[in-house]
Amino acid sequence: AVPVLAIDGPGGAGKGTVSRLLASALGWHYLDSGALYRIVALAARRSAVALEDEPRVAALVPALDIRFGTGSDDSVWLQGEEVSAHIRHEEAGAMASVVAALPAVREALLLRQRAFRQAPGLVADGRDMGTVVFIDALQKVFLTASAQERADRRYKQLIAKGIDVNIGDLLADINARDARDSSRAVAPLRPADDAIVVDTTRMSIPEVVSQILAMVNK
Ligand code: C5P
Repeated sequence: AVPVLAIDGPGGAGKGTVSRLLASALGWHYLDSGALYRIVALAARRSAVALEDEPRVAALVPALDIRFGTGSDDSVWLQGEEVSAHIRHEEAGAMASVVAALPAVREALLLRQRAFRQAPGLVADGRDMGTVVFIDALQKVFLTASAQERADRRYKQLIAKGIDVNIGDLLADINARDARDSSRAVAPLRPADDAIVVDTTRMSIPEVVSQILAMVNK
């Protein structure tokens, strides 16, 4: 089977940055599963479907034409329109975690996520890569960091993009999203039994990347 490196964990733990670097170091494909949930939330809002309306939100999924940039291009297109800026902000993340709690939506996205598994390998970034989507992954990693550290990192990222935010609001958002992601009935956020937990609070990005590469290449 094509090898999968599953990188799960809460928001702001550095999964996106680390997963992209790992994919490029390994020459593997990359799946940003969070972007799929963000896009579903955006599509629902644009179709004036309530985010909690499970059957209607799930029914939107099959018709969504979603494209990702490759390599260092992290653009995302929905029905041919570049929507990266629309899905990357905090509010889009919060909306994503609402639709992500709907079992029918998760089910509708399952095969679409598995289709990313192509030779020579896949780095899959999300919340349930190791517990649901790729249970047979070659290596499962659960990346975490303290909530305060994750809020600090998000703050720096957003400020660098010229987005003005309040650190207290960010920390409150992160805690609310963690609570929603961990307490939902379907695919709650938790490390797979066979995952290696890496706490990145006091680690640099290159340190995290080389620690995980060593696990894959062992
Ligand atoms: O990783 P990202 O912040 O883009 O994810 C946005 C939201 O999508 C998460 O808070 C979570 O609720 C949901 N998600 C999920 N399962 C995944 C990826 C993301 O439930 N595999």
